[in-house]
Amino acid sequence: MPVSVQYDSVWTGATLVTLQEGRYSAIPDGAIAVRDGRIAWLGPRQALGPHDAREYQDVGGGIITPGLIDCHTHLVFGGDRSREFEQRLSGVSYSEIAAAGGGILSTVRATRDADEDHLLAAAEQRLALLMAEGVTCIEIKSGYGLTLDSEMKMLRVARRLAERHPIDIKTSFLAAHALPPEYHGRADDYITLICEEWLPAVAAAGLADAVDGFCEHLAFSPAQITRVFEAATRLGLPLKLHAEQLSSLGGSTLAARFGALSADHLEYATADDARAMAAAGTVAVLLPGACYLLRESQMPPVAHFRQQGVKMALASDSNPGTSPACSLRLMLNMGCTLFHLTPEEALAGVTLHAAHALGVAPEQGSLAVGKWANFVHWPVAAPAELAYWLGGQLPCTVIYRGRRR
Ligand SMILES: [Zn+2]
Repeated sequence: MPVSVQYDSVWTGATLVTLQEGRYSAIPDGAIAVRDGRIAWLGPRQALGPHDAREYQDVGGGIITPGLIDCHTHLVFGGDRSREFEQRLSGVSYSEIAAAGGGILSTVRATRDADEDHLLAAAEQRLALLMAEGVTCIEIKSGYGLTLDSEMKMLRVARRLAERHPIDIKTSFLAAHALPPEYHGRADDYITLICEEWLPAVAAAGLADAVDGFCEHLAFSPAQITRVFEAATRLGLPLKLHAEQLSSLGGSTLAARFGALSADHLEYATADDARAMAAAGTVAVLLPGACYLLRESQMPPVAHFRQQGVKMALASDSNPGTSPACSLRLMLNMGCTLFHLTPEEALAGVTLHAAHALGVAPEQGSLAVGKWANFVHWPVAAPAELAYWLGGQLPCTVIYRGRRR
């Protein structure tokens, strides 16, 4: 008797858009065999050898992509800023709004005041929208608490979301997001507090998968971010940075110098920054939602990133101020339309390159043997359709760790 290969399930009937090497790398009439939640085999259906499987699924056409990865979000927050949006459109300036207690500090206030269950319930609504369109891994940052207790509260909510829903969640500790009002005029003291007390506490509690910061005139200087990065590195935590969003301070080169997973935003990054990021393998995370909402005219230097071979990811930046977005697929369209990415680059940006930006590429981000069986069936003719449709939801079937979600 020949020994038969055993699979839990075999999926056929679609073109596999594998995203291996960040390219479509399509396999027409493909098959994916799943065992123990991971991809055990994939290739042309005709090449699938003798086997047994408990379950066969013929999806009847369309394409299968890796599960989508949203690698930059501020999904957990209190309140909303729709009133401020309305005011800005009627001519009230951002500084007037901030002077009246609006802007990021209004979110900080609402987040501090909200109890954990309320934050969880509000974030769950936004998470559901992302999950419905194929997201199987998401990053969530703190950064609206700006006290140790409320920062940890945000991170605990992110951990609870992961316990309650079939999705992978990576957390980033972003206390260096904005200066809390209590520290007005004492930014260096606040950085000292983060480095000496908060980071060790958050690391000891196992609440942070990475450490992030905001390097900008209205946030923290490269020298202050350097101190945060040194402290995080001593604790063995990976790094990310909001850099070059509104001006060129060299934050992305700083991130590269520390071997950061990613530098994010990057509208004002230079050719030298791109070279430094390429050398370090630091991913460029592009956030078209914020660009759009702020009507930014400066675009990230995509040509330099391409030329230097910097991996480009795309993310929703879901946040109440500058990118109230709950659709990663809309970002595919905006990445192409605003930043001139190709649909193939955009799709790599929400799969394989997003996985690199979170340090999870060995486990997910492409269809490959050994990775988690996280994939999405889309009843569309070609992968460019995922970037083509502007808004709305495409029907899709999401498989998370080998099971229909
Ligand atoms: Zn952000």
